[in-house]
Amino acid sequence: MPALGFGVYQIPPDDTFDAVAEALRVGYRLIDTAAGYGNERAVGEAIRASGLDRDEVFIETKVWISDFGYDAALHAFDKSANKLGVETIDLLLLHHPVPSAFDETIDAYRALERLYTEGRLRAIGVSNFMPNQLKVLREHTEIMPAVNQIELHPYFTQPTVRALNAQWGIVTQAWSPIGGITDYLGDGGPTTFDDETIGAIAAAHDRSPAQIMLAWHLQEGRSAIPKSVTPSRIAENFEVFDIELTPEQTATLYALDTGERGGPEPEVVTRQDFGKTIPEA
Ligand code: NAD
Repeated sequence: MPALGFGVYQIPPDDTFDAVAEALRVGYRLIDTAAGYGNERAVGEAIRASGLDRDEVFIETKVWISDFGYDAALHAFDKSANKLGVETIDLLLLHHPVPSAFDETIDAYRALERLYTEGRLRAIGVSNFMPNQLKVLREHTEIMPAVNQIELHPYFTQPTVRALNAQWGIVTQAWSPIGGITDYLGDGGPTTFDDETIGAIAAAHDRSPAQIMLAWHLQEGRSAIPKSVTPSRIAENFEVFDIELTPEQTATLYALDTGERGGPEPEVVTRQDFGKTIPEA
């Protein structure tokens, strides 16, 4: 799996083709989508139109919680594969644990294990799983998740989840890696983009805050999947492989942690509140 990918959350289906096409043109080879984003079809179309071979692009998508349970998750694979227009998906994640229906969460993961064993998935994983949920999952299933995709940016650095991921050999993949969620919340609070400390590190490298945050993830061994629809930013977010942060700068970024997530608390997610239906086509 390429470490740096392109995320397409909140990109409307009509804009997704152009954004993914631009990302592929710039050099991204990992695309992160989800059944819940409603844009898998456009992701598949952009990949086919790119002229790249199927095996040159790593496609990652997610099963939404309304499709948890064994049979429903098997069918969710069919829905996503059909929309993407592929036979195999490179990485399929459970989008979010549902603590109040954890048996169904586990059954959905068992379906992923079966699809993996059958060769229809190249890797399986989870998203937004906290240590207690990972531990229960592991007690009831066979295959270690390859990836745990979690909210992770300088304002929310998730030390406990990162530690367990590292101990178990699970790749930590950062969503909102440049802190987009600190901006979307629109609560008037500070955002990573106008943070003075991040700005000072960026100035020292003559780069942008987004580039510094992405270099931080990569240097710390994480995968990151920044999103943008703006071609100049899509390119900027990929020009990060030459940045070397000092140990002090790395520690300074971790020290910005507020302990407060922007996304929903994993414990409160229920099928009732988060159970939108994923269409067949
Ligand atoms: P992000 O940290 O990637 O921030 C994206 C936003 O930052 C953009 O909308 C834009 O406003 C801004 N931006 C992008 N590039 C910039 C630049 N160079 N300079 C200044 N501003 C810039 O946040 P995200 O979109 O929330 O997360 C990225 C991806 O993670 C998503 O697209 C999706 O694929 C995934 N994700 C997963 C979950 C989950 O529950 N698993 C949740 C949220 C996001």
